[in-house]
Amino acid sequence: MHPRRRQFLRAPISAATPPRRPPNAVHEHRLALLCDACGECVAACPTDIIVLRDGLPELDFSRGECRLCGDCARACKPAALAPADAVRLDLRARIGATCLAIRGVECRICGDHCEAGAIRFRPARGGIRLPEIVPDACTGCGACFAPCPEAAIDIHPIMECST
Ligand code: SF4
Ligand code: SF4
Repeated sequence: MHPRRRQFLRAPISAATPPRRPPNAVHEHRLALLCDACGECVAACPTDIIVLRDGLPELDFSRGECRLCGDCARACKPAALAPADAVRLDLRARIGATCLAIRGVECRICGDHCEAGAIRFRPARGGIRLPEIVPDACTGCGACFAPCPEAAIDIHPIMECST
């Protein structure tokens, strides 16, 4: 039996922070069965943000953003990242309480990095504008993650994201 398949059968799925999978990743259960940790997706990623953790691919947004080019999915021979015409990330950004603007300090850095225009700034008391994610516009690309000076942004799987 494949060593990781054995591990999968034994280990309960962690309730800790969910992993951010690359575009078109199949459901977690199938991913663990299909992915053979060959690393082809890691090599194919033009922004070098795919890493293998515990033998499965994850996006590390501290290294950069996902351009949703689909090169990783096309490189995945076992189709753990499903080949499809449409490239999608099941991720969305979420802004946390350490945000400077929420704490009364003017900042729009995340908005400046969001090409999708998915971060709008709503006027609030004191003249400060507060960032707000527009869920339907956010692609989950992660471009806003690393530039935030307060590490206030998290990129969450859609099912985990309440904003
Ligand atoms: S970059 Fe960070 S601190 Fe600045 S407005 Fe965006 S979330 Fe807040
Ligand atoms: S994840 Fe990408 S699309 Fe979503 S808010 Fe951040 S920069 Fe914009």
